[in-house]
Amino acid sequence: MIYMDNAATTRMRPEVLEEMMPYLRDCYSNPSAIYGFAGEAKAAIDKARSRAAEILGVDSDTIYFTSGGTESDNWALESAAFSDSEKKHIIVSAIEHHAILSTALSLERRGIRFTYIYPGKDGIVDPEKIRNAIRPDTALVSVMTANNEIGTIEPVAEIGAIAHEKGVLFHTDAVQAFGQIPINPEKMNIDLLSASSHKIYGPKGSGLMYIRKGLKFHAFIHGGHQERDRRAGTENVAAIVGFGKAISMAESDMDERIKKETAIRDHMIERLLGEIPDSRLNGSRIKRLPNNINVSFNGVEGESLIILLDMKGVMASSGSACTAGSIDPSHVLIACGNSYEEAREGLRLTISKDTTLEEADRTVDMVADAVRQLREMSPMYS
Ligand SMILES: *Cc1c(COP(=O)(O)O)cnc(C)c1O
Repeated sequence: MIYMDNAATTRMRPEVLEEMMPYLRDCYSNPSAIYGFAGEAKAAIDKARSRAAEILGVDSDTIYFTSGGTESDNWALESAAFSDSEKKHIIVSAIEHHAILSTALSLERRGIRFTYIYPGKDGIVDPEKIRNAIRPDTALVSVMTANNEIGTIEPVAEIGAIAHEKGVLFHTDAVQAFGQIPINPEKMNIDLLSASSHKIYGPKGSGLMYIRKGLKFHAFIHGGHQERDRRAGTENVAAIVGFGKAISMAESDMDERIKKETAIRDHMIERLLGEIPDSRLNGSRIKRLPNNINVSFNGVEGESLIILLDMKGVMASSGSACTAGSIDPSHVLIACGNSYEEAREGLRLTISKDTTLEEADRTVDMVADAVRQLREMSPMYS
């Protein structure tokens, strides 16, 4: 079996599990308790917080642990929407993850206005379109650092600069980029940033939000005093510890990993486009995550391709995990100007730090076989 769905989730590093184990077994105290035993759990959370702060080049007290990327995204939009009664307008890109887009729909039902910014055909959002959409009542701009389907790396530093010029908050969903490529919120004009553990070889159910120092920002989950009154609920200590370990390991091997993944990615793209007729790459060729390959083959439905690849032992996706299982066309491919037909043709292959060249080649061979098979059966392709 070859796992080519690392944008959906990754396999935990063994060292991560090892570091988590004591907090699942012996060190079970509630970190908020005042006896000495609780100190260990509290210290472990602090260590994870320092590791998260270090990879972003920020102070520890800007990091808040959450249950994952989805909660952080919900938090950013919900709090920004209700922090100033004069500001009831939010700008998001049309290619955001559903954690942003579904929250937007929910807020629209409660009177918040949204503007959706469409990217170019290459999946890159033009910062000038953001500038033109900002109004006096705009509370927040939210554009993802990198897209989960087509892997595009968005010009967030430029978008953040424009937002700040106009006195508007800037949030970025960095779930696909955090730990994968360098990010510095201060240098990139980011006020709020979402990240997730299970996309970087950490445990599921853990994430974080970076909140720029001095920002007035309401809690979203209400209850106890955890996370300095900003995120209530007893901390998921083991998952936070695992997330911290995954972050520190991601920081140590980032340069090497980017080099290795980029080489395999480019090799796969070159072969897929070169050897399979009527194929195309989705998303920018250059401004692209090192681990993302998203290709379409004329007349071949992504869903059928994935089922056939599964039978051959390759696990792939047609887009985001949330749309898999339904035959909805990809909202990302549609936003990039594709027809409904074309938006059903995407195949996403996302490699990991451990993917070998041999696995990459075997995958390409199987994709080529599968495409040939499907086209032979298809009345739509001749
Ligand atoms: C996976 C993902 C999320 C959701 O994160 P979870 O930790 O799974 O809740 C949000 N945004 C993007 C871009 C993602 O890829």
